[in-house]
Amino acid sequence: MGDYLYRCDYCLARFKSEKRFMKHHCKEMDKESTFKSLEGQAAHLFYKAWMKHKHHTTTTYADSFKQSQYFNQFVKFVEFAQKVHLPDPNSFIELMVKHKIDPKFWTHPDAYGKYLEWVTRILPAKKLIEITVNTLYDITDEQEINVRDVFTIVAPNDVIQLLQQRRISPWILLNSKKFAAFFRDNTNSEERVIMESIINPEYWTKRFEAHPDDLKYAKDCVAALEL
Ligand SMILES: [Zn+2]
Repeated sequence: MGDYLYRCDYCLARFKSEKRFMKHHCKEMDKESTFKSLEGQAAHLFYKAWMKHKHHTTTTYADSFKQSQYFNQFVKFVEFAQKVHLPDPNSFIELMVKHKIDPKFWTHPDAYGKYLEWVTRILPAKKLIEITVNTLYDITDEQEINVRDVFTIVAPNDVIQLLQQRRISPWILLNSKKFAAFFRDNTNSEERVIMESIINPEYWTKRFEAHPDDLKYAKDCVAALEL
C-alpha cells in the first residue's frame, strides 16, 4: 500500500489523505446504495424473473446483476411499476419475454399499453380477482374502513383510473350489487359511457357464460367481501 492508507472498497481508488478519502464519491458507491435500497432489491428480483423466463436460469448472482448492462433499466422499471401501479409485474415480465420486448422498452408507453390489453384477456380469472382484492384492500386500509364500504369512498374518476390501470376487474365489479348501485346512483352519463367502454360488458357476459366455474368463484369472493 505504501503511502496509500485509504482505499475505496467499491472502485478500489487509493488515497493518501483521510480528508480526500472522506470526500471521495464514485459511481460504484451509488450503484451499491441503489442495489441495497428497496427498489434495488425489487429490481434484482425482477431481473431474476426475467432471466428465468428468458434464459431459463434461476442462478443469478448479485454481482452479475450489478454488472449487468440492464441494471439501470431494471431500477427504472421498478420506479415505473410503482408509478403506474402495474398489476402483477411478474406477468408483465413473462409477456414481455414472450413478445420479445427488450427491457430497454419496458417503460415505454407502447409496452405498457400492450400489457394492459393483454392483462384482461390472458390472465386467469383467479389472478385478476386476486389483483382486484389486493387493490380494494389497499384503498380501504388507507382510509381504515372495511372493504364492503369501498364504494362509499371512491369517486367515479377513481374507478375509471383503476379500470384503466387494470387494477380492478369486471370479474368482481360486474358481480357486485354495490358496484351496480354505485354505477346507477353515483355516476353521470359521461362517466357511465367511459366505464362501459373500458369494461366492455358484452365481452364479459360471454366470458362469464363460457367459464361457469370461474364465475362461481368470483361470486363467492364478492359474497365473502360483502360487495
Ligand atoms: Zn470509489
